[in-house]
Amino acid sequence: LLKIEGLQKSFGQIDVLKGISMTVRKGEVVSIIGPSGSGKTTLLRCVNFLETYEHGSIQIAGQEVGFRDSSNRQRRGETDLARMRAETGMVFQSFNLFPHLTAAQNVMLGLVKVRKKSKQEAREIAEHWLTRVGLDHRIDNLPSELSGGQQQRVGIARAVAMEPKILLLDEITSALDPELVNEVLDVVRQLTEEGMTMLMVTHEIAFARDASNRIVFMDDGKVSAEGPPKELMAQAGSNERLDAFLSRFR
Ligand code: ATP
Repeated sequence: LLKIEGLQKSFGQIDVLKGISMTVRKGEVVSIIGPSGSGKTTLLRCVNFLETYEHGSIQIAGQEVGFRDSSNRQRRGETDLARMRAETGMVFQSFNLFPHLTAAQNVMLGLVKVRKKSKQEAREIAEHWLTRVGLDHRIDNLPSELSGGQQQRVGIARAVAMEPKILLLDEITSALDPELVNEVLDVVRQLTEEGMTMLMVTHEIAFARDASNRIVFMDDGKVSAEGPPKELMAQAGSNERLDAFLSRFR
């Protein structure tokens, strides 16, 4: 479903992605782990058109989706961009909800503007998904009236309501107090069980091990190791950097 090949990206003199290739098949859950600064967030942002890149390709369902340079970006209107972004629903570390809109309005916005749903239909979809993430009693609250875990669940509802082909999760529990992490992970786990295709960057190694089909270990802008969770963990014996990284969680 998602195919990334030879992706290279730099910020000025710094090469952040040095030729990344990976695939995510339909229904598969792939976790990306790795040290801070290894390029994990940048990779997701390239897939979601939030960054341009210099070399390589990103395909979703056989269609080239990313853009290699900013002129390509400018040729595409904002609506077109929003439509393409909706194919790759993204949930951010810092929630990124609109503070002046209620939970329901946050979910409805893309449905009305991008998916061209009527307000009534969008409201029904929003209520459905907010109920699914356990927020049926918070539908008309503002983000400031919600806990971090609840805000992040609105973020998830907003992304899945658009029916993306793939869900991108960028360290979605990193900004949460420890006691709120599980309520968010439970929602993600449910979605994986329903067959949602996902690519997630996470520092929750135990969760990645339990919930993923495959784990990719990124180090210094490259894929250093990958495989089903057990296989990946077993590679630590022969991969010093992976071993050092995993030892922090043992
Ligand atoms: P973390 O786990 O800390 O979030 P990461 O693996 O997600 O790290 P990235 O956020 O992708 O890493 O960053 C990779 C490198 O790119 C870092 O060295 C960072 O400083 C650099 N970088 C990221 N965004 C920018 C930017 N907009 N301008 C310049 N450098 C950037």
